[in-house]
Amino acid sequence: MTTLRLLLGDQLNPHHSWFRQVNSEVVYVLMEVREETDGIRHHIQKIVAFFAAMRAFAQALRESGHRVVYLELDHPENQQNFLDNLKALLRNHQAQRFEWMLPDQWDLGLRLRGFAEGLEAETGCVDSEHFLAGREAVQLQFQDKKTYVMEAFYRQMRQKHQVLLEDGKPQGGRWNFDQDNRRRYDGAVPLPEGMHFGNEVSELAAMIRSQGIKTLGGLEANGLRWPVTRLQAESALQDFVRHRLPHFGTYQDALTSRSSFLFHSLLSFALNVKLLHPREVIDAAIREWERRPEDISLAQLEGFVRQILGWREYLRGVYWAQMPEYRVRNHFQHSAPLPSWYWTGETRMKCLQHAIRQSLDHAYAHHIQRLMVTGNFALLAGVHPDEVDAWYLGIYIDALEWVEVTNTRGMSQFADGGLVATKPYVSSANYLQKMGDYCSGCTYDPKQKTGPRACPFNSLYWDFFHRHRNLLERNPRIGMVYRTWDRMGVASREALLQEASGLKQRMDQL
Ligand code: FAD
Ligand code: SF4
Repeated sequence: MTTLRLLLGDQLNPHHSWFRQVNSEVVYVLMEVREETDGIRHHIQKIVAFFAAMRAFAQALRESGHRVVYLELDHPENQQNFLDNLKALLRNHQAQRFEWMLPDQWDLGLRLRGFAEGLEAETGCVDSEHFLAGREAVQLQFQDKKTYVMEAFYRQMRQKHQVLLEDGKPQGGRWNFDQDNRRRYDGAVPLPEGMHFGNEVSELAAMIRSQGIKTLGGLEANGLRWPVTRLQAESALQDFVRHRLPHFGTYQDALTSRSSFLFHSLLSFALNVKLLHPREVIDAAIREWERRPEDISLAQLEGFVRQILGWREYLRGVYWAQMPEYRVRNHFQHSAPLPSWYWTGETRMKCLQHAIRQSLDHAYAHHIQRLMVTGNFALLAGVHPDEVDAWYLGIYIDALEWVEVTNTRGMSQFADGGLVATKPYVSSANYLQKMGDYCSGCTYDPKQKTGPRACPFNSLYWDFFHRHRNLLERNPRIGMVYRTWDRMGVASREALLQEASGLKQRMDQL
């Protein structure tokens, strides 16, 4: 009796229980399909990285003795969508059983379930054995609450998984070291080399191009930097804990034109395709901290653990609690188009130029660039969240719907009306100047609010709060903003609104 087991491109978990036994009656199936590459425009590095990781994973399975069918994108029998390919494969292999892992994407989960129900073959679905919290964890913890509080979720996860605890209490006496962790990068600590595996992918990229797939961004001259095998993923993890963890927390909110990567881990791709397990990442960081207490403070470690055990698991829980409604939410009813320079980086605003250009170059920007530079501007400019989503989902190496849409609509665009974020993450130039070094080389002046050299963030910031007063005024974390606005003279307020209106009319020229 033959069993066909489907493996998706983000299900490359080498330690999954499926692979413990080699069984000649089991055929694993992986496929590259247009259905995944064509809906929106993706970064060329993202498509290449997924395909390269899938191909390497299939090869590793074969070398361990498993039977594998791999449909390349240009394979003559590839029908370019999961279900038609599966139907044909089930027939060709005369399979009597079909099994799949629960997908992380809502739609695909439904479609695979529907497909399985329509089969005459036996079917079975298993967990991907990757996440530390169940899909329903957030829903259960916050049942009827209006907001989902990450900090409460994170503390519960620390308890449940016994991470950084001493006699049931947080190690170091505090749950949260955010206050110690928010420094501007001043050059005092030398910048580490960015991780780069130099994977040779030119043939794969040529195949993708020859198939007419529309992509964005470019490849780096010295190959693909991202880890695409289990061995590379392990080495990326070691590289991070050795060289960047010692300063991770201190500079996690910093913005600098001197580096695209700062002290970030660069592990999101390996984690999201499941080459790395979140628990092993956390354990590796803790082990390194125990080994080098003089180099790595608890604040650095906790800042990192919070991202993986807290934010990542929490936002996945939000996704499963809120889909499918979540991805169409638009609390502010924003409708503006995304400025055209988001696709090219051709803007005079230095902070945006830097964040967008590095995203096009590396398919990567760190969290604060995504949140406080590109996300901040899109929200101030009133861009429709669909357009913001399509950009984030396309451009980043790690972008998958469950983690992209919750970060973009929830964290960044406040499109869920405050379920995830307690207030909109917006700022004027003041914050960007404080946390970064972009303003000194910019055409615009962060101190000016109106006039040809005024930083656009300034008037757009006030315009945003002014036009959404009825939705935001009662938020206790925002009251101060309206008190400052009201204290300004009428003429100043008018001038700011007029400035913002002019900017909105010439968005593409900024
Ligand atoms: P580090 O800064 O080193 O953090 C360590 C790890 O923690 C990351 O690898 C990631 O797995 C996890 N993590 C940290 N912050 C978050 C978060 N907010 N949500 C989930 N996991 C987190 N992350 C994605 O993986 N995919 C996305 O599509 C994505 N889209 C985003 C869109 C917006 C608008 C914003 C503001 C954030 C987005 N993030 C996304 C979260 C975060 O920016 C990236 O996980 C991070 O920048 C990846 O780089 P890193 O591995 O160097 O992370
Ligand atoms: Fe960005 Fe304004 Fe600073 Fe220019 S002046 S870098 S646009 S914050």
